[in-house]
Amino acid sequence: MKMKTEILKLLRETDGYVSGQQISEQFGVSRTAVWKVIRQLQDDGYQVEAVRNKGYHIVDSPDVMTKEELASLMKTRWAGRNILYYDVTDSTNLRIKQAGDEGAPHGTLAVADRQTAGRGRRGRTWESPAGSSIYMSILLRPEIAPNKASMLTLVMALNVVEGIQECIGNDRDIQIKWPNDIIINGKKLAGILTEMSSQIDYINHVTVGVGINVNTTDFPEEIAQTATSLRIECGHTVKRAPLIAAVMERLEENYETFLETEDLSGLLDRYNALLVNCDRDVQIIGAKETYQAHAIGIDHTGELIVRREDGSIEKINAGEVSVRGVYGYT
Ligand code: ATP
Repeated sequence: MKMKTEILKLLRETDGYVSGQQISEQFGVSRTAVWKVIRQLQDDGYQVEAVRNKGYHIVDSPDVMTKEELASLMKTRWAGRNILYYDVTDSTNLRIKQAGDEGAPHGTLAVADRQTAGRGRRGRTWESPAGSSIYMSILLRPEIAPNKASMLTLVMALNVVEGIQECIGNDRDIQIKWPNDIIINGKKLAGILTEMSSQIDYINHVTVGVGINVNTTDFPEEIAQTATSLRIECGHTVKRAPLIAAVMERLEENYETFLETEDLSGLLDRYNALLVNCDRDVQIIGAKETYQAHAIGIDHTGELIVRREDGSIEKINAGEVSVRGVYGYT
């Protein structure tokens, strides 16, 4: 870990002051070098107080999102341990796909403060303004059949909800709109985009991208009625880096549960409890037909079980359709 990350961690984990002497001895560097790192942290936006004869103390860490901030908060073994950070990039999914092709390790995480070409499913765009939200993608190298990879979208949806609940408490009704959107108050808070590079029977790697509207207050007109953010819903800002770390922690655990059975058996109950479409009439918008049905829940493969108007039960594969509420977006 880089010295800046280590010093940040030390300051965070210490209640009182940490002396310049102590830091310089611990890292084997000069007092001037320590002071330079402290200055860099202040430039990044941390309020680090320096008191003569006492040392340094971190008063507040605002919504800083840097590689060091992320690394200092990560408690995982592999998820988000290798971090690629961008102030601006085209799309974190593209960055992770490239990293995957170049041999980056399982769990590599790309995070950007802004995306110039944020993407949704089927060529749609994901609005990605600077300084307010989370755009991240993770590289996974699962040793499973390629047709099982779409379940990873559902695993990630669960991670995102549980990570958010950990950061803001679970008194707000955050739900999943199958298969890839996170909803609060009937509006879209986050979206997930999973892409795979594979052979016929072998996965090279999977990229799971997540966009979370964290502190956004204004949305473009086209989505103003359907999009929302944590800030809008909670009435206060939420720090991005700890939320990313929380999602990575949930990912590590839920992904390992997924791998035990290579399906969603171990996560099914928690997923269905969060499912906004559960026990609701929905409109299934497919490539060939659009029809109304009653959604029952997902099964262990991640398909949505619906009852059609003639009473027949059908299972819907996520790749094929969009699902809408009969009267609105959810
Ligand atoms: P839908 O949610 O309409 O069923 P989808 O799940 O396929 O479709 P995604 O690919 O997840 O949609 O996301 C792209 C769509 O989300 C865009 O077409 C736009 O309507 C909406 N969108 C784009 N940016 C944002 C954002 N930052 N927050 C919320 N919604 C957004």
